[in-house]
Amino acid sequence: MASKDEIRCFVVGDLQTNCYAYVCDGECLVIDPGASGAQIAEALSDVRVVRIVATHRHLDHVGGIRALVEATGVPWCIGHLDADDAPRAVEISSHMFEDRPDVSNPPTPDGVLHEGDVVELGTARFKVIETPGHTPGGIVLLGEGTAEGVAFVGDTLFAGSCGRTDLAGGSWEQMSRTLERLAQVIPPNTTILSGHGPATTMEHELGTNPYLQPGAWRPSHGEA
Ligand SMILES: [Zn+2]
Repeated sequence: MASKDEIRCFVVGDLQTNCYAYVCDGECLVIDPGASGAQIAEALSDVRVVRIVATHRHLDHVGGIRALVEATGVPWCIGHLDADDAPRAVEISSHMFEDRPDVSNPPTPDGVLHEGDVVELGTARFKVIETPGHTPGGIVLLGEGTAEGVAFVGDTLFAGSCGRTDLAGGSWEQMSRTLERLAQVIPPNTTILSGHGPATTMEHELGTNPYLQPGAWRPSHGEA
């Protein structure tokens, strides 16, 4: 991990979503609390949670936001094109079959993120890259400052694979353009932290991930 800050990962919910807590100087940004918001808040009681960001609108990434907001009182935000549908995630994401007490619709977002926006957390900064394909408003957070060397990529990119595009709002055409762009803008020595599964590096994915090879066009059979 190139960053000198601390990154914690909580695996939550039926779909084993990676919820990340990025901690810089005692302040914490929570990314994708997909379930178990109250437990996440408890696990982060030693730091000051200041903001929540969701990489996209699917229930397994936003299902824990309401409880986390209730416990911490902090604002949450999401890519502008996923903002309208996020508060209906339970209804929209019915394919995920999550019916559990620690998952619920998030409240209306307090803010929306656009391409080029920067989410700041002390000396860490995260540049927003819009990455449509898995959902219309999906985003990647590319670390800068003391967060340089990490990228939170949600369900856009996985170790050896990419996000599925057959769900509502998904588009393989957009996904293939997004992947082509990520291959260019994410430095090879970046640690890739995905919404599901293990961490990887951009260098490893550029060399091995079939969806990142030049000219790769494959039918929409990604994952998660
Ligand atoms: Zn998803």
